[in-house]
Amino acid sequence: MNAGMVHPRAESLHIREKLVDGFRAGIVAEAGLMAHGRGEAFDYLLGEKTGSHAMRAIEASAATLLFATRPVISVNGNAAALQAENIVKLAKIVNAGIEVNLYYRSASRENAIKLLLESAGAEHVLGIGEAATARLEGIGSERRRIDPQGIAAADVVLVPLEDGDRTEALVKAGKLVIAIDLNPLSRTARAASITIVDNIVRAIPALLEAIQTLKTAPTEQLEAKLSSFDNNKNLNEATRAIHQHLLLVTNKPTLPKIDGPPNRPSNRRADSLNQLRHRKNGPKIIMLTAYDFQTARIIDQTGIDIILVGDSLGMAFQGANNTKAVSMEQMLYHAEIVSRAAQKTPVIADMPAHSYENEQEALTNAKMFLDVGIDGVKIEGYKPVAINILVSNKIPVIGHIGLLPQTADRYSVRGRDTNEANQIFNDAIALDDSGVTAIILESITEELSKRITETIKTPTIGIGAGKYCDGQVLVTPDLLGLTQTPTPKYVKKYVKLDESIQNAISQFKLDVTQGAYPDREHTYY
Ligand code: ATP
Repeated sequence: MNAGMVHPRAESLHIREKLVDGFRAGIVAEAGLMAHGRGEAFDYLLGEKTGSHAMRAIEASAATLLFATRPVISVNGNAAALQAENIVKLAKIVNAGIEVNLYYRSASRENAIKLLLESAGAEHVLGIGEAATARLEGIGSERRRIDPQGIAAADVVLVPLEDGDRTEALVKAGKLVIAIDLNPLSRTARAASITIVDNIVRAIPALLEAIQTLKTAPTEQLEAKLSSFDNNKNLNEATRAIHQHLLLVTNKPTLPKIDGPPNRPSNRRADSLNQLRHRKNGPKIIMLTAYDFQTARIIDQTGIDIILVGDSLGMAFQGANNTKAVSMEQMLYHAEIVSRAAQKTPVIADMPAHSYENEQEALTNAKMFLDVGIDGVKIEGYKPVAINILVSNKIPVIGHIGLLPQTADRYSVRGRDTNEANQIFNDAIALDDSGVTAIILESITEELSKRITETIKTPTIGIGAGKYCDGQVLVTPDLLGLTQTPTPKYVKKYVKLDESIQNAISQFKLDVTQGAYPDREHTYY
């Protein structure tokens, strides 16, 4: 078989060739070929790339290996066939042992793998033949055998392509287990201390690179990589990455078909959105959120400047504690409804958390918003990669700095501390040059928002940022008095709609009870 380098799946076919060669040389087991097939399927779903979740796991693994006192890399047939040289390099750089550990153990396979590792530069290969005299509790057969000088004595074990039973047994034996597994749902992935959800052919070279970079870093930096890492969160992100990728590939989110007024072409609204850049010293920009048709329809008649389909719908509409779990599908559902209702007012939508992690995702997701009638998008934080690709594709972007609900672990005022204030100010300067239409300043001190507003040429729109901004935005249910108290200090309730609704309902209840409703006026004859 000759895959050739022009074939779109050349890399994947090349890996297969290596495994088939390994199988013929007695290195890879028959079942190893099938296991690879399962891995390939997950790689396809992940977009055949190292995601940000995998990068974080790789950095945490690099720190773990650098801190380890007796690290061991456990090698099976597939790992040897695909990454022998890099495994040897990795072992040398972190001073780790290399131990052959096989599901289908036979003397000839052990030897073939040992020879391959030695030809890649390994000096001492553990776990061969009689050397594997120790036992791993909790699993049966030949797979229990481990080397007393290797895995048995290790504090950290790196297991590329492991099965669930052994991973669980290793964790039970008190080892810190780093797994490389393309399937974020496997028992291995769930049992390991750190799971790198990535193809071994990308993960091991990336791990080598991360170790090279981090090995001279101060201890606190390594500790920070570890303390900020949470494997459950990491696996959830990997699963979400699959979901996102499926959405990108199909490009057709499953939105319910709504039979209502048609969506207008959004050009005119987009034009008025672009005009906002000239409102720096003009009348204040007024922006409000909407998530449903009736509210958007009413707001549209008031002549305000922008309607925001905010991911604040997580709290204001869904009753969640924060905006973190709001998905693209949910946003698109509301975005389509609101943009159909807003006939005059430009409508922008929040790109939800994890929807703009790289160029491709940012562009595809933003285009999905345009497809449902949205005029522009809002992105939290200074994210140059996402912003640049959108701006260069002429998609209006509104920036957002200060308190960033998608990533915040606390909802408090930002910029009281000088370092934080400088960071936010620098982000404002960077955003100012990035071509965004306006910048939301959320929950920052008035002093800081004044300094930003006076320095940059892009209009600022404040929410909890004082009076000096070029515009103001509020969450409409807050302004209408529909949300539960306590609301943030900056919220001004212009009407107590909750009381009006309760009064109306009480009156209805009373009327029905007393026979006053339905009366002649509300009855058909
Ligand atoms: P578990 O027991 O952990 O639930 P499993 O029974 O599916 O999982 P195996 O069949 O022993 O595990 O091993 C195959 C695993 O290795 C699969 O989860 C697959 O995703 C993963 N895998 C296969 N090839 C690769 C690869 N090239 N890179 C990373 N992971 C891979």
